Amino acid sequence: MELLTNRAKQVDRRPMDFWERLYLISIFKGMWITLKHFFKKKATINYPEKQRPFSSVFRGLHVLNRDEEGRENCTACGLCALACPAEAITMEAAERLPNEEHLYREEKYAAKYEINMLRCIFCGFCEEACPKDAVYLSQTVTPASYKRENFIYSKEDLLIPHPKKSN
Ligand code: SF4
Ligand code: SF4
Repeated sequence: MELLTNRAKQVDRRPMDFWERLYLISIFKGMWITLKHFFKKKATINYPEKQRPFSSVFRGLHVLNRDEEGRENCTACGLCALACPAEAITMEAAERLPNEEHLYREEKYAAKYEINMLRCIFCGFCEEACPKDAVYLSQTVTPASYKRENFIYSKEDLLIPHPKKSN
């Protein structure tokens, strides 16, 4: 039969000699390989105590932006949800009331805004699609959790701190 690659190895079927039957040489060879790895630089790190530096273009957890007055930028236009290839974003729009000008920048706002981080592939399309500078991907890694519901980030989880109330 013609071989597809040159990686095939012939199996050695000759009977084992005395030293091979003792297995000592094979055991020492195996232990030597293990011992060599003790002194090699580790390929792994003690995550999460230690973290590798990220690229400057790393895209992590989203944030929802406010303007300098602390008003929410998002107008619930839905463009980010439309651009999202993973269908990770859902929202509900609401109309701003006359006494809510200090809360929302535009006449419409997101009463509910959710991102499912289990669906998100951190492509950044939502950030690019947003015409209001409202959604950004930060350099924060989404924290791990044992519960699926902890990966649904609500508007309150995503909004940056109010610039006038954070201090
Ligand atoms: S980063 Fe990509 S996948 Fe994640 S919510 Fe934004 S558009 Fe969707
Ligand atoms: S985050 Fe931007 S694109 Fe998404 S609904 Fe709000 S304003 Fe529209």
